[in-house]
Amino acid sequence: MMFDFDDVETTQDKQLPHTLAWAARSPFYRRRLGTALPADREQLLDTPLTTKQDLRDSYPFGMLAVEPGRLATYHESSGTAGTPTASYYTESDWDDLAERFARKWIGIDATDMLLVRTPYALMITGHLAHAAARRHGATVVPGDNRTTAVPYARVVRLLHDLGVTLTWSLPTETLLWAAAARLAGHRPGRDFPALRALFVGGEPLGRARRARIGQIWAVPVVEEYGSTETGSLAGECPHGRLHLWADRAIFEVYDPRTGRVGPEGRGQLVVTPLFRQAMPLLRYNLEDDVEISTAPCGCGWRLPTVEVYGRSRTGFQVRGATVTQAALEELVFGLPARHEVLFWRAKAEPDRLRVEIEVPAEHGEAARGALRQAIRAGLGVDADIHAGPPGTLVPVELLTRNPDTLKPRSLFGPDEDWDSALVYSR
Ligand code: AMP
Ligand code: MG
Ligand code: ZN
Repeated sequence: MMFDFDDVETTQDKQLPHTLAWAARSPFYRRRLGTALPADREQLLDTPLTTKQDLRDSYPFGMLAVEPGRLATYHESSGTAGTPTASYYTESDWDDLAERFARKWIGIDATDMLLVRTPYALMITGHLAHAAARRHGATVVPGDNRTTAVPYARVVRLLHDLGVTLTWSLPTETLLWAAAARLAGHRPGRDFPALRALFVGGEPLGRARRARIGQIWAVPVVEEYGSTETGSLAGECPHGRLHLWADRAIFEVYDPRTGRVGPEGRGQLVVTPLFRQAMPLLRYNLEDDVEISTAPCGCGWRLPTVEVYGRSRTGFQVRGATVTQAALEELVFGLPARHEVLFWRAKAEPDRLRVEIEVPAEHGEAARGALRQAIRAGLGVDADIHAGPPGTLVPVELLTRNPDTLKPRSLFGPDEDWDSALVYSR
């Protein structure tokens, strides 16, 4: 798939007057900015940042800038329980959302079958992939990962029997499928010949884990970065870098230590989406720890690149050393593939780092020794490593069971269990 991203600045300048006019209709921005509503780029860059707290305080419709009848969907993000963050979109907002998600270098077309394996309930992620694939004529298999209707064994059956060509999920999901596929007697890299690529996003993904996922499934892993409040923000190029969709939004970086905001460098990502009407956002601080670079990428896309660290670089101190999720993940997935380590967890205590891995018994000792050594060399800590058999961290039952989800009913026969009356369960 070819993209033309020449001169995104001109594209931004052309769109910005519309963006600002839409924002001027937002009750939130009218109240906050009043006569100081920005009229051009310079004034926009003087406007105070919009925070997540602003969004929460505006729940549910304090940011609604169109007639309610124009809304197409309402969403809430996965955030902390009890403090919903609402996001809503019109049909025309959806043109922009779906088009951005569909920007995959590997392409999406009518011959594709896409398994959507992210949530549909409230969040936007499932609907994004669904809409993007539909617009390109692909067949969508809706397989929400939070529903009891599609347990892992069923995912494996769908991937295998239907000849699914593309998937959309958290990176972690693809490892769970691999384990479930093996338990079902399939070899992930060989027995799914229709599979072309795995679209992943939603959590930080280090180089080693990404490489391992690609190796296990023998297809490219194509990353995506976005949020429920904004939709897709960046997508991967053929050179494996994440590029910000700067033709659709203005991106900035906020350094909370100095209070400075600039177009590149390290800090929190600030975004002004240019094409949304229902809920305009001006300089919205996503609070994701990122690093933006404007150095050219070999792929030729003239869009800034971004590294997304999220909170994965926030560490714990263990005997004077800093232990982060990102660093540990890199070391665990740096173990040789033949050890077959897919799952791990760790607990960082002030004087002890405990790491548990799942590993087939025959590789247990080798994997334990190699990881201990890698952690000592990489982090300067002697870790207590426990190697348990498959099933220790991810129950085998979770990967193999195929429960019936029964529709509710009230009348039962003499030999039936009536404990499942009315609710969806058995
Ligand atoms: P949500 O608010 O539930 O829609 O989730 C969006 C959040 O997930 C983002 O703000 C990031 O913190 C995280 N996220 C999404 N995609 C990525 C990615 N590719 N790499 C790292 N973090 C990501
Ligand atoms: Mg969020
Ligand atoms: Zn690139």
